Amino acid sequence: MLTDTHTHLYSEAFDEDRNDMMQRALDNGVKRFFIPAIDSSYTNRMYALERDFPERVHLMMGLHPTSVKENYEEELRHVEAQFEARKFIAVGEIGIDLYWDKSTLGIQQEAFKRQIELAKSHQLPIVIHCRDAFDEVFEVLEECKDEKLFGIFHCFTGTYEQAQQALGYQMKLGIGGVVTFKNGKIDTFLDQIPLKHIVLETDAPYLAPAPYRGKRNESAYLDYVCKKVAEIYQLSEAAVAKQTTENSKELFGI
Ligand SMILES: [Zn+2]
Repeated sequence: MLTDTHTHLYSEAFDEDRNDMMQRALDNGVKRFFIPAIDSSYTNRMYALERDFPERVHLMMGLHPTSVKENYEEELRHVEAQFEARKFIAVGEIGIDLYWDKSTLGIQQEAFKRQIELAKSHQLPIVIHCRDAFDEVFEVLEECKDEKLFGIFHCFTGTYEQAQQALGYQMKLGIGGVVTFKNGKIDTFLDQIPLKHIVLETDAPYLAPAPYRGKRNESAYLDYVCKKVAEIYQLSEAAVAKQTTENSKELFGI
């Protein structure tokens, strides 16, 4: 059994064939789906997805760093209001993205910190999105570090040193399609990180693994990620699937 710890199944990219896409994933052994939020414009879609696949999907709630704009206070209130109304499995995805917009760094840091506090108050993990912003993300984590801080460094693409640093904040590394890319780099040191710190993800519909690189990604392709991780660790795919699913259970408590 495989667990996709990060997949945007509610995305418009799946509006034409969502049921078939889910069936392909289930047929490939992907049975558990963890769903990161983006902003308030997707909340109703997430709830609809949960109604359609109640046994399979587990929703997070949070404000994505690229959606941190002038109205971020309002967006954060929306996130907090959802937490007051119901349960979620994690606060995510949250973090800092300096690839798309550097001018919002200040408010991205502010939104990141506030959502880390929200996670701690609910004793939930955080799911971090970090793009071109390792130093900035680590600076916030250092400030917020304590025994209540834990989670996943989603789509981890850093160096060995950055991986070690992330583990120091009780983060697991979310490994996805990038591990199959020729210039992905993480395949060169991943086997030095104990497998108990690794979870698998697709980030569908983005970042499809080889041989689908550049195409629409879907959760069924998680087996390509599992296969590559198994090669790197010189383990069977079954062993990697089992251990990374165990890791996801330990982290999310489900
Ligand atoms: Zn994502």
